Amino acid sequence: MIIAERKPVEEIKGFIRDKKRALLIGCRGCVTVCNAGGVKEVEILASLLRLDAKKDDVDLTVDELTLERQCDPEYIEELASLTGGKYDAILSMACSIGPQFIARRYPGEQVYPVLNTCFLGGAMAHGIWAEHCQACGNCVIHLFGGLCPIARCAKSLLNGPCGGSAGGKCEVSDQIDCVWHLIVAKHMEAGALDRLLEVDLLKDWRTSRDGGPRKITREELVKND
Ligand code: SF4
Ligand code: SF4
Repeated sequence: MIIAERKPVEEIKGFIRDKKRALLIGCRGCVTVCNAGGVKEVEILASLLRLDAKKDDVDLTVDELTLERQCDPEYIEELASLTGGKYDAILSMACSIGPQFIARRYPGEQVYPVLNTCFLGGAMAHGIWAEHCQACGNCVIHLFGGLCPIARCAKSLLNGPCGGSAGGKCEVSDQIDCVWHLIVAKHMEAGALDRLLEVDLLKDWRTSRDGGPRKITREELVKND
């Protein structure tokens, strides 16, 4: 899922300085699962902004709403009756796709991103998430024992470790496992170390990651009106 985290409150307050009516919109997708922008987080932030405004004697209304998904036009449409001057700030508490979809559909609105979109990852333990994929467009983890060297090696090395690994940890931090240490250990265990001696020219970054925003079209799902 997409892992995001809330911006510092001071930054969010800066978005609505001089505004009178703000609509704070959460998302029931990834950001609900990673506890960054679901119903509960919307409620907490809205209360915080209201309390702060009250403390500073500022006239501010903050309304709350959580959409099923903000990355889907079907659900963004639900905002139609709430736009057109009803709010002078729309605060999107989705990953950064949400505020872009809202701004595109409602060009007259002032839309602000409340969350910072961080990475694609999973939950390691309660309250801990870690990056596991960089969406390179051509998954090759089967060649690395199910571990991704692109997302999990600080240098995205595809043909073996750098010289900096120590005690199984990455040279950039002793809090991060060296994924190449894990890959080699897994292959040794399986008696398949030979596999790693082959040099792979796996990636052509010009076509798989660079070259502008990527797009997928599934013709069978496209409606031709
Ligand atoms: S190889 Fe790594 S970055 Fe590429 S799709 Fe697979 S997990 Fe993601
Ligand atoms: S120490 Fe390991 S994970 Fe860190 S950059 Fe070197 S090979 Fe990659």
